[in-house]
Amino acid sequence: MAKTSKVMKSSKVNEFRLWGLLLTMGGMMMMIVGLAGIVFDWGTIGRVIAIIFGAIGMVSMLVSMGVYFWAGMLSTSATVIECPECGKQTKLLGKTDRCMFCKTILTLDPNLDPGTSTPSSN
Ligand SMILES: [Zn+2]
Repeated sequence: MAKTSKVMKSSKVNEFRLWGLLLTMGGMMMMIVGLAGIVFDWGTIGRVIAIIFGAIGMVSMLVSMGVYFWAGMLSTSATVIECPECGKQTKLLGKTDRCMFCKTILTLDPNLDPGTSTPSSN
């Protein structure tokens, strides 16, 4: 419980998917800006913008695909357990993660489990 970051409010699998989606959106936006450089005929500067933004957009899209793939890989290697709070089957990444449905902190490590054992720290 003590080591769980307060910033992370979602399960890890969902977190990776969110980043993948954001990168995809960002990449598409960049490529649209790049295309605008060609469409609106801004001359040499337009072409430079098109190349730069197009390249960044492509890289971003590729990275997002990598993130999606990685999330898929992590998802298959994750431990599937039944959430004690909502009763649904959720995936656990590492030893401590949150339920994908109700965001309850779940852990495989008995030392960190706030429910079944008394906290060892302090
Ligand atoms: Zn749950």
